[in-house]
Amino acid sequence: IPVDPFDLVIFGATGDLARRKILPGLFHRFTVGQLPETSRIVGAARSELDAEAFRSMIRESLLEFAPNIAAESKLLAQFLDMLHYVRVDAGGDAGWAELKDLMRAGVVRAFYLSVSPSLFGTIGGKLHDHAIATPESRIVVEKPFGHDLETAQALNADLRANFDESQIYRIDHYLGKETVQNLMALRFANALWEPLWNSTHIDHVQITVAESLGVEGRGEYYDRSGAMRDMVQNHLMQLLCLTAMEPPSRFDPNAVRDEKVKVIEALEPVAQKDIARGQYRAAGGEGSYRDHAGDPDSRTESFIAMKVKIANWRWAGTPFYLRTGKKLRGRSSEIAVIFRDPPHMIFPAMEGHKGNALIIRLQPDEGITLRNTIKDPGPGGMRLAEVSLDMTFADALGEEATPQDAYERLIMDVIRGDQTLFMRGDEVEAAWAWADPIIYGWEETRQPPYPYDPASSGPEEALMLMHRDGRRWREIT
Ligand code: NAD
Repeated sequence: IPVDPFDLVIFGATGDLARRKILPGLFHRFTVGQLPETSRIVGAARSELDAEAFRSMIRESLLEFAPNIAAESKLLAQFLDMLHYVRVDAGGDAGWAELKDLMRAGVVRAFYLSVSPSLFGTIGGKLHDHAIATPESRIVVEKPFGHDLETAQALNADLRANFDESQIYRIDHYLGKETVQNLMALRFANALWEPLWNSTHIDHVQITVAESLGVEGRGEYYDRSGAMRDMVQNHLMQLLCLTAMEPPSRFDPNAVRDEKVKVIEALEPVAQKDIARGQYRAAGGEGSYRDHAGDPDSRTESFIAMKVKIANWRWAGTPFYLRTGKKLRGRSSEIAVIFRDPPHMIFPAMEGHKGNALIIRLQPDEGITLRNTIKDPGPGGMRLAEVSLDMTFADALGEEATPQDAYERLIMDVIRGDQTLFMRGDEVEAAWAWADPIIYGWEETRQPPYPYDPASSGPEEALMLMHRDGRRWREIT
């Protein structure tokens, strides 16, 4: 279904994110007929370019990052025709009048700030002062949304100085992933799961986001944040919220986000003993985390595992274990909901019997798997075996269902004015309010992370975190 015609201004349009994700995403939506040709995409950045030079720059990026396009494709030429460029320096006066002239009445107006967060306030102010932003305009911002509670509050204040919360779209691209939304469909469109979705039936939940690459190339940047700030406070927290939240009364942005905030507010403070931080070692001629970070004494974690408790009626007694890191054995992300064993086993105990688990896989092969126990076929008596009911989207729903890129979906949601998959200001602040004491706790003790080998599952201490509770992590594959 095509969206309404729009004028979309991308600040930072010559930058990495715009060229690698935002513009290829828009182009892909154009090729499937979702963008009206009368829409305008205006690049705004500091580089001295004219519209023609900008188009040829973006043409190169599309040929590199948008799959399967021919250089001579007619669609490519049509898409490039929709592009305009204005040179603006956020702090200066040049360009704003020109930008205003490009904006049309009667179409959706959106501003995508793909620039450093330190410019949010300045750009918002200029859009307001030059009467480019209207009360209906939308503004989109990227992570990182703050470094701690105080900086997040300051960013919120910067944005709200010129825009209402209903106009602000804070991107967490995890929320744009097909399976993540499917988690909501699974939970709230089926009668089967909700009665089981509580501590009576669920033993624990494991959320893993494993990456096989290190921080090469962006080590200095990463070293200022670390896994807790870069991944847990935002992405893993969002996955936890969608898994743990109460059913909203309607599928409406504020109803959904109200329920997510309640989960974050119910999180217990995490004791340092329930956290294992790690840093990868050098191996096979490749540098260590500290080499990549350019700091031989860095205490920033490239891995973290933690046990999180949600103090509410539904989840008391069911811990959520979170784990994320770089340079691990594989690149895989999943939410694993591990059910309790049957209260009474009539079959002789079976070695390796694992019980039911529902695995929501974000990558690779987005899909959902339900682990069941059945009788091992054939003679040999009543032996049990584990079998998965598998739903890989590509298999179950065909080629058509190949999930669209998270960015594409989220940008289309901005144009449609649907904030459901974007973080609300209070949600981000609540997540920082939970994360801050944890981070400042270990900063105070100056405790170094535990070293771990590249291509492993992280430090031994992370395994111990689970073993102590008589549980074990699922393999990272
Ligand atoms: P980049 O450095 O590659 O690009 C920055 C862009 O901002 C350029 O177009 C530059 O011209 C423009 N710019 C800089 N200062 C300006 C000013 N004063 N006035 C006007 N324009 C100015 O950065 P990037 O990697 O594209 O990242 C952009 C934002 O998105 C950052 O906040 C980053 O943290 C965030 N982000 C990036 C990625 C990624 O994969 N690159 C992923 C998530 C979030």
